[in-house]
Amino acid sequence: MVVALFRIEDHFVQEMVAHSREEAPNECCGILAGPPGQVAALYRTVNTSASPVRYSIEPKEILRIAQELEEKDWEMLAFYHSHTHSHAYPSATDIQLAFWPDSLYLIVSLADPQQPVIRGFYLRDGQVAEEEMEIV
Ligand SMILES: [Zn+2]
Repeated sequence: MVVALFRIEDHFVQEMVAHSREEAPNECCGILAGPPGQVAALYRTVNTSASPVRYSIEPKEILRIAQELEEKDWEMLAFYHSHTHSHAYPSATDIQLAFWPDSLYLIVSLADPQQPVIRGFYLRDGQVAEEEMEIV
C-alpha cells in the first residue's frame, strides 16, 4: 500500500491563507508548482468568477504558467482555492469542474476566521480522495 502524503513548507500555507483573506468574501485561487513532489513556487491566479461560492481560472493563465514550468522542468502539483464561509471540503461544483486528475486540490477554509483550515484532495471521476498533508 502506498502511503499518500503531500509535503509543503509552512510559508506556502501562510501565503495561501493570506491570499484567501485578501480576496474574501470572494474565493481566491492559485497554483503550486515545482519538481515532482516538492512545492517550490506559488502562482496566484485571478478568479474570473469573482464569486464567494466558486472560482475559475482563465485557461490562458494556466497555459502561461504551464509554459513557464516546462522551461524549468517543473510540474503543476496542486490547485488551491478558498472557501470563505464553508468547510475545507470540495463542493459539488469543485468536483464537477475538476479537470486535472493528477493534480491535488487544496482548499483553504476561512469558516472560522481565527483558525484557517487547509485540506487536500484528489478529484477523479466524481470521487473525492483526501490526501494527508505534512506541513514542514
Ligand atoms: Zn470550492
